[in-house]
Amino acid sequence: MPHSVLVSGATGFIASHAIERLLAQGHTVTGTVRDPNATTKNAHLLAMPGAKERLTLVAADLNAADPFSAHVMDVDTIMHMASPYVINVKDPQRDLVDPAVNGTVSMLKAASKSKTVKRVVLTSSVAAITDEPDGRVLTEADWNTGSSLTRNPYYFSKTLAERAAWDFMANETRGVEKPAFDLVVINPFLVVGPSHTNAINSSNQVLVDVIKGQYPAILALNWGFVDVRDVADAHIAAMENSKAEGRYLTASANMDMTALVELMRQAGFGQTKLPKLDLTGSFGTGLMKLVSYTQPQGVGSYLRTHLGRVPRFDNSKSRRELGLNYRTPEASIRDTLLDLENWGHIAR
Ligand code: NDP
Repeated sequence: MPHSVLVSGATGFIASHAIERLLAQGHTVTGTVRDPNATTKNAHLLAMPGAKERLTLVAADLNAADPFSAHVMDVDTIMHMASPYVINVKDPQRDLVDPAVNGTVSMLKAASKSKTVKRVVLTSSVAAITDEPDGRVLTEADWNTGSSLTRNPYYFSKTLAERAAWDFMANETRGVEKPAFDLVVINPFLVVGPSHTNAINSSNQVLVDVIKGQYPAILALNWGFVDVRDVADAHIAAMENSKAEGRYLTASANMDMTALVELMRQAGFGQTKLPKLDLTGSFGTGLMKLVSYTQPQGVGSYLRTHLGRVPRFDNSKSRRELGLNYRTPEASIRDTLLDLENWGHIAR
């Protein structure tokens, strides 16, 4: 049955893929953007097959008092994806936490006023699960309790926003009327993949930085990767599967920086600038932790909480209940490199 879906942050990396899929499957989409008249920024959405007939772009800023109520009156599903995804900011409260939390609460308040919304799918993050992998296998039961305004503030914003969402649902449930909608949360790891626009998402930027020589050495970093197309599919499955519930840790598998650099070398990218010095041992990790204090706060705290740590996770709930069949990190990263090359961001 065709759905009527509101997607917030429609121009975003993940949202663009989700909207492409929604339109291809015959659904009707209202996309919120900061400026519906920004023709260049919105062009890729308006050019998608089905957009002319079934896509409307409306204005909404997460910092506004009530950005969403006017736009959810006829929709049955909300995908709340808008949230600032920036690692270094001037003022973490103003630039990250406020828009993330206020935007999420505004969306849920709007949904509870609507008579038609049945499900809200919230794009949270693995950032709400941990900001310092400790060797245990992470699951949907884990919560990030370490982040703050000064330690991994982006992680903090995502944790507070998701907490606020579950608190909102619990308060609503305790009220006289049960909410007419339910909440399903997607918690993706580092999302890579082809982009609909020439903007480089913060996660794809990691690959660009390695290729362009921004890393002085190969560090003891290890990422859980997930392909943007699989994350988009996760959101669609969370809409379609009426039994979907709770959180979904959405990640394919790990890759460390040594393997990443080797993959890039084999694919022919960054031959002269790829890091060669191996600082993955305990001396190198200790050294880089000291160097991290010379970095901007966002990057510095990320390094201190991630160097020498290997995230382990259980993605079985997402595979079982959302039917996800993840692309491998190798395949996703190769596709991402080709896409970055096509956009002119990297060269062989
Ligand atoms: P993008 O930066 O591409 O998308 C973020 C979207 O949020 C953009 O459309 C942006 O609009 C919008 N937005 C930010 N601030 C505001 C604001 N104040 N008012 C209105 N809109 C705003 O990132 P992604 O697609 O990667 O992120 C989408 C979601 O996925 C986010 O919630 C992010 O936290 C989450 N996520 C991303 C991961 C990743 O690795 N990429 C991993 C896990 C979760 P504009 O373009 O105008 O700035």
